[in-house]
Amino acid sequence: MEEAMPKVFKELKSVFVKLEKHYRDMQDIEFTVENNKLWMLQTRNGKRTAKAAIKIAVDMVKEKLISKKEAILRIDPNTLDTLLHPTLDEKVNKEVIAKGLPASPGAASGKVVFSADEAEKMNNQKEDTILVRVETSPEDIHGMHAAKGILTARGGMTSHAAVVARGMGRPCVSGSGEINIDYETKEFKVGDLSIKEGEVITIDGGTGRVMKGLVPTVKPDISGYFSTIMKWADEFRKLKIRTNAETPQDTKMARNFGAEGIGLCRTEHMFFDDERILSVRQMILSKSLDDRKIALEKLLPHQKNDFKEIFKIMKGLPVTVRLLDPPLHEFLPKTDKDMEEVARSLNLGVKEIKNRVAELHELNPMLGHRGCRLGISFPEIYEMQCRAIFSALIECKKENIKSVIPEIMIPLVSTEDELGIMRKLVNRVADQLQQENKVKINYFVGTMIELPRAALRAAPISKYADFFSFGTNDLTQTTFGISRDDSGKFLNDYIDHKIFDEDPFVSIDKDGVGELVKIASQRGKKQNKKLKLGICGEHGGDPRSIEFCSKNGLNYVSCSPFRVPIARLAAAQAELRR
Ligand code: PEP
Ligand code: MG
Repeated sequence: MEEAMPKVFKELKSVFVKLEKHYRDMQDIEFTVENNKLWMLQTRNGKRTAKAAIKIAVDMVKEKLISKKEAILRIDPNTLDTLLHPTLDEKVNKEVIAKGLPASPGAASGKVVFSADEAEKMNNQKEDTILVRVETSPEDIHGMHAAKGILTARGGMTSHAAVVARGMGRPCVSGSGEINIDYETKEFKVGDLSIKEGEVITIDGGTGRVMKGLVPTVKPDISGYFSTIMKWADEFRKLKIRTNAETPQDTKMARNFGAEGIGLCRTEHMFFDDERILSVRQMILSKSLDDRKIALEKLLPHQKNDFKEIFKIMKGLPVTVRLLDPPLHEFLPKTDKDMEEVARSLNLGVKEIKNRVAELHELNPMLGHRGCRLGISFPEIYEMQCRAIFSALIECKKENIKSVIPEIMIPLVSTEDELGIMRKLVNRVADQLQQENKVKINYFVGTMIELPRAALRAAPISKYADFFSFGTNDLTQTTFGISRDDSGKFLNDYIDHKIFDEDPFVSIDKDGVGELVKIASQRGKKQNKKLKLGICGEHGGDPRSIEFCSKNGLNYVSCSPFRVPIARLAAAQAELRR
């Protein structure tokens, strides 16, 4: 156009500039030229990808068209997800064998497995897998955690696979109707091509492509415009952003994304490792305290090394370590082979082990023998964990490694006495180690507020707590009385009937669960002025819930590593919207 009608082109360019300046935003413009005369037909703010939104916002600040505040408010935090995951190396040839929906961003390669159990087994052997299912359900969660990516033949963008994978930061291609899965023969077919269990495939959850073999990936680029926006967001936000992480890998990634501490280190995730699971099972199934202590002694060095690694990475930033939480039965042996192995190691008969496993069975494990209830029944478990934390600290000190002040967190508390007893236990172990090593250890003790009674009794509970961390996953579950594992079956009906606007496990229910958070914060703070407040349920990475936390005086939110940048931006927006 510049060559064919230079005068009109010049005029058009000046209109572009005028419109962009007037609307102070990138324009999607329609025009026509008739008999060498320019006619403007329409203009509106242009649609843009997340990457473009960031570049446009930064450029406009530099051109002094908008302020930093406006730039921050223009970016939808949820869209950042697409920029934070590995992408395929586009320079490499790919054999695309099928397509599906781009359900959760990121690219991943691994050996094909067809069951969650197989994914978990392979993960324990340090093998990368892609979990291929017709569709997924809550029973597959452990496999979704274990796999590097998820591919389903059925389901849309809000199917179980899509929603859960997005939450976990796992790449997912859903609803790939071209693939035919045969669980019996353990293969899937696309036309004439057959892919068997164990063969490597690559999925790209950003575009929905499924490829044969391993395609190299490129790490996400969070420098440049992205990091400029993040820096600006940090200038405005008051909320601190921590992460939920328990592996050195996740911890490093979260630090890269700007996490300012660990808000939740779920120690039970450190118990599932193949090397440790036998000792864990011995610990649970042993009949005497002495046998249990032998098993715990074996676990101690593993836990200590885990903590030391994390403390080193966090270099002085706060680390909240939660003592063991889930119901014991989750660790119990299930197969005959596992039963025999534990029986041998404990010098017991297989029948005895089977009986003990049956004894430990709970009808409602989420409301059963978990959290601090384990610490009350078996204090030696929590003692071992505290010893591991403090020993890791002491080793860091001796090796002149900049370490952290750990925050030891007691889960599933509902009464002040539970926390009082647990606090004494922590202090006892700390005193012992201080005397043995002639060093001073600094630490805090706090609790999760994840049961309605704990929220209501926040004042007396806060007498024993340096901090509260709202466990809004369990708090949502127990406030509504809706199982966090089974709700998928009927939640969509509730959304269809407009009973819920949104899944309350994703975005905080301000009227109910939120009310309990407010009550607990006010009552806790009134009693204990120094009390620190945070949130570590999944809501900690949800922009609307972050706004709620900011309004209600929480000090920090903690979320999965991939949501840290989302939280940084959302926290800044919350501050700017006040
Ligand atoms: C919670 O309940 O919100 C929480 C963070 O703990 P978990 O999800 O491990 O139960
Ligand atoms: Mg919980």
